[in-house]
Order: sequence, then C-alpha cells, then structure tokens
Amino acid sequence: MIDFKAAIRTIPDYPKPGIQFRDITTLLSDPTAFRASVDALVAPYADGKIRHVVGIEARGFILGGALAHQLTAGFIPIRKRGKLPRETVSVTYELEYGEDEMELHRDAILPGERILLTDDLIATGGTAIGGVKLLRDLGAEIVAACFLVDLPDLGGSKKLREMGVDVRCLCE
Ligand code: 5GP
Repeated sequence: MIDFKAAIRTIPDYPKPGIQFRDITTLLSDPTAFRASVDALVAPYADGKIRHVVGIEARGFILGGALAHQLTAGFIPIRKRGKLPRETVSVTYELEYGEDEMELHRDAILPGERILLTDDLIATGGTAIGGVKLLRDLGAEIVAACFLVDLPDLGGSKKLREMGVDVRCLCE
C-alpha cells in the first residue's frame, strides 16, 4: 500500500510567508508512487465509459495525460486565457487574491459526453468550480473530479460536492 501523503513534500512559506505549499513533484518523480496514483484514480472507471479526461493548466496536464492514456480516453486541456487557438468558452474564477480567466475550446466536447475532470490539488475550489462551469456550459456529463490532494479545511471539495460533482482524492 503506497503512502501518497509521504510522497508529497511540504515547502513552508512558499510562494509567500505563511503558506504551506504541497509540492507534488516528488510524487511525480517517484516511479512507484506515480504509477500507483494513476492506477488508484482510474480504478473506478475501468468500464471504459469515460470519453475524455479534462485537465486544468498546468499540473492537471501531467496527471490528466496519464489518466487518459490508462482509460483509453481522449485528453482535453483547460487553459489560461489567450492560449487556445480556436473559439472558446471562458469563465472567470476566484484566486486567493483576485481572479483569473480560463478557457476551453467550444468544439472540444459534445453535449452528454462523459468527462473525468482532474487537477493536482483542490484547495478553495475556485479553480475546479471554474472547470465544472465550463464543462456544464458545453453540456458535458461530469462523471467525477479527481485530485491527488484535498485541503479540506479550505472547503473546495465540499463546495464541489454541493454542486453535485462526485469528488475523489488520494489524500488530505
Ligand atoms: P483552489 O482554486 O482550489 O484554491 O486552488 C487549487 C489550484 O491551485 C490548483 O490548480 C493547484 O494546482 C493550485 N494550488 C494551490 N495550492 C497548491 C499547493 O499547495 N500545491 C500545489 N501543488 N498546487 C496548489
């Protein structure tokens, strides 16, 4: 049994004083822990019914590509504003200080397609909730949202569940 929490490093006072940054690069670089993370996150979806994994820039791309490969699903990126070349749907989302905008290609998903949304970590939920709004705008069926880490004290996973999203995380 892998101890996912032990594979993630905590950096105090990064990116600013008082923040405990959970650095997942140590998990990604550990061959056993990375493999086990991907295996654990895809396990409930082995029925082959996920059409696309949608990853949020940037660490959600690393995880999302591996999950998509393992599920024989396609991969779709949600990107920061101005990075996607075709027509997009966009959403403004809350950051700790201020807000930002992220986008998804309008033609990336057809109504009713079954999606697995992913990112490395959920904290306040602002980022993931933005992703859910974009996907629902396009009529996607969000089967679940999955993360390596949940920071439950910040309330994001609870908010996402209140929006009717099935949330799965490997550790807190
Ligand atoms: P939220 O929008 O839920 O408050 O923050 C989650 C987003 O910020 C994710 O995209 C995640 O990558 C990033 N993030 C916030 N805090 C951390 C952290 O401690 N470690 C990592 N790896 N990412 C974080």
